[in-house]
Amino acid sequence: MNLELLTELIEKYGSPLYIYDNKILQERCEKMMKFKKTLEAKLNHVKINIHYSSKANSNPAILKIVKNMGLYADSMSPFELKMCQKSGFNKKEILYVCNNIDKNEMKLVNKEGILICLDSISQVEAWGELFPNTDIMIRINPGIRGVGHSKKVITSGKETKFGISEENFTELFRVIKKHNLNLIGIHQHLGSLFLNDKIDDYIQGVKSGLELINKYFPDIKILDLGGGFGVPYKPEEKALDFNLLADRLYAVLKDFLDENPNIHELKFEPGRYIPCESGMIIGKVIANKYENKTWWIGTDIGMNQLVRPSMYNAYHEINILTQNEKKKIVKANVCGNICESSDILGKNIYLPLPNIDDIIIVKNAGAYGYSMASNYTGRLRPAEVMIYGDNSEKLIRKRETIEYLEENIVWD
Ligand code: PLP
Repeated sequence: MNLELLTELIEKYGSPLYIYDNKILQERCEKMMKFKKTLEAKLNHVKINIHYSSKANSNPAILKIVKNMGLYADSMSPFELKMCQKSGFNKKEILYVCNNIDKNEMKLVNKEGILICLDSISQVEAWGELFPNTDIMIRINPGIRGVGHSKKVITSGKETKFGISEENFTELFRVIKKHNLNLIGIHQHLGSLFLNDKIDDYIQGVKSGLELINKYFPDIKILDLGGGFGVPYKPEEKALDFNLLADRLYAVLKDFLDENPNIHELKFEPGRYIPCESGMIIGKVIANKYENKTWWIGTDIGMNQLVRPSMYNAYHEINILTQNEKKKIVKANVCGNICESSDILGKNIYLPLPNIDDIIIVKNAGAYGYSMASNYTGRLRPAEVMIYGDNSEKLIRKRETIEYLEENIVWD
């Protein structure tokens, strides 16, 4: 995307702005469908469904593309559920994977006829009291430490809040029996973001889950292995090799599925992988300063717009389209406009020293970008735009207004 187009978009929709490339999004969906078909061909009696985890980005324009490309969806909240439904996913194509939800939310899921995946005995008890004799899935904690780009996104092992562990299975069975629930599937999600060098760890986690299923859940029909498929954020990282992943999964699943012929469906729940690389957030350079032998490039992309760098210390490639003819390269910290010391998009990066109003591009922001954005310090969330091959664009979410934020305030 060239400077002219980006400048035009900022003038039209304001700064900062999320932009998604329709072509890259479709390509990632195609990759997922190819992975599904490759693994299905290997495991000949099992159907595989890929549920896009809409927490990564639940804009309906993205969901509709995902749906058209043949994927299913996961939702985790009433809003995500509504977005999935409005984007065309039917009740069989949605799985509700949730954590600590109240009874009203359970009633909604049941009313909509969506399969639920529960992640504690107390949630199974609550569901059972409301809806005895119904189908449920359970999230287990396979016990082994999971995989992920940060400790904060590792979701299995002793230090996480997720799932039911082996020591509580006896009590789980008691509650299931008490309410005559039909446990049709087991789910596990090890964490978010593994690449080729961590496939072994991922497979170890899968193996631990399969051992528990063999031992305790011989009658289930659905096995859900969660998400976690990574993308290369850093230039030196390589894309995840899905043929290798399919081979490695086949090696652990083949005998298991032969011994458990009642399992007829395998699910995966990739979130990040689908929209991440299609998205970027662009903004403007607002101020530069040189303090304590450090360049600080001040932009309007605050941690409220893209929280990953400050929350996870995550790396995002940053480019500056500068009008500065001298293009003097400096080592700088690029930061946002929020009054927090952690409001930094990139530390110690080499960039041409920008002019004020130059455009800054933060790449790979399509997943956990807008969906984690907030109004912290009263800042407005940006607009979102989809770009097509011919450089045409479509506004897919308007920029917020102060009036919109004011709407829910009760003045007295
Ligand atoms: N499934 C569950 C239960 C999750 O919590 C998540 C996110 O962490 C995902 C799927 C998607 O994970 P990822 O975006 O790493 O593919």
